[in-house]
Amino acid sequence: MTYDAIIIGGGAAGLFCAIEAGKRGRRTLVIEHNQQVGRKILISGGGRCNFTNLDTTPENFISENPHFCKSALARFTPADFIRLVRKYRIDYYEKKLGQLFCRDNSRQIVDMLLAECSRAGVEIKVGCKVDAMSSDNRFRLDTTLGQLEAENVVIATGGLSYPKIGATGFGYKIADQFGIERTKTRPSLVALVANVPGGHSKLAGISVDAIAACGKNSFRENILFTHRGLSGPAILQISNYWKSGDSVSIDLLPETGVRELLEANRDRTQKTAANFISEFLPQRFVEHLAGSSFPNKPLNKLNDAEIDRIAKA
Ligand SMILES: Cc1cc2nc3c(=O)[nH]c(=O)nc-3n(C[C@H](O)[C@H](O)[C@H](O)COP(=O)(O)OP(=O)(O)OC[C@H]3O[C@@H](n4cnc5c(N)ncnc54)[C@H](O)[C@@H]3O)c2cc1C
Repeated sequence: MTYDAIIIGGGAAGLFCAIEAGKRGRRTLVIEHNQQVGRKILISGGGRCNFTNLDTTPENFISENPHFCKSALARFTPADFIRLVRKYRIDYYEKKLGQLFCRDNSRQIVDMLLAECSRAGVEIKVGCKVDAMSSDNRFRLDTTLGQLEAENVVIATGGLSYPKIGATGFGYKIADQFGIERTKTRPSLVALVANVPGGHSKLAGISVDAIAACGKNSFRENILFTHRGLSGPAILQISNYWKSGDSVSIDLLPETGVRELLEANRDRTQKTAANFISEFLPQRFVEHLAGSSFPNKPLNKLNDAEIDRIAKA
């Protein structure tokens, strides 16, 4: 069977590419080795798919070729995707910072992409694995459903994360086979393993609005203490910039510093430092931090050295 375009991988990228090829009148086939397309979309955004961000700019993307994002975003904007979502009457909401999520579930986004594929005349084969690919004047694919041929092949098999739901290194294998240079892979958008003073178990589950910074990059969102270190949106973002040996700093009181806060309120409250700071940070966290090291006396009785000790804790 011969196609104008075969797209290997039925994820977000592959389905979208297929829709555009189909709209241009190309005889298009998507090959997906899972029994269903879009499994990563289904788990995205905690099952509600953060399908676009209102203020997306090319600067939000990390790329060896920043110009690619400029042209891609100029040709298809967040507003274009929102228009598509509205066309399918998918109810959505802004969670925060311009992040748009489905109100019901991510399945709606997969169904929308499948409906668009169908309108564009795209054929989809699921449960079909590509074992090998060769090319002379056209591409030949050996698949579990037989041999297929195409004028053009798009590799949309995604990255390596989440092999349990179908991720493979197929794209990298093909790049190597065809002598295409590729960048080194490394973990991205991941939690960090870290030593937390006093151990993790007492802090696990606590979430704090904070600034996580590494070098000249910083993100303000929640951080989450885990049993092994830190996670949460700000940590996932900063993990993209962290390299072995770098330090990550966390500002738990972004609006003001602890020292400034204590000094400004020194004469205004009878509360202990721990009780006072608990008004700004989760109590369980402050109790852990305070331990036996915060002086157990009212704020207005603290001397400069004691304030200094608390600020450095
Ligand atoms: C937990 C989690 C939450 C996320 N949340 C969001 C979010 O809310 N918003 C957002 O924008 N992004 C989110 N992402 C990222 C987003 O899901 C991915 O960037 C996106 O799905 C990548 O799409 P893709 O098409 O490039 O790759 P994939 O979705 O990985 O698709 C590749 C497809 O190729 C198939 N395949 C692989 N090898 C072969 C082969 N040899 N033959 C045939 N088929 C093959 C795979 O089965 C897969 O279906 C999240 C990711 C994760 C892991």
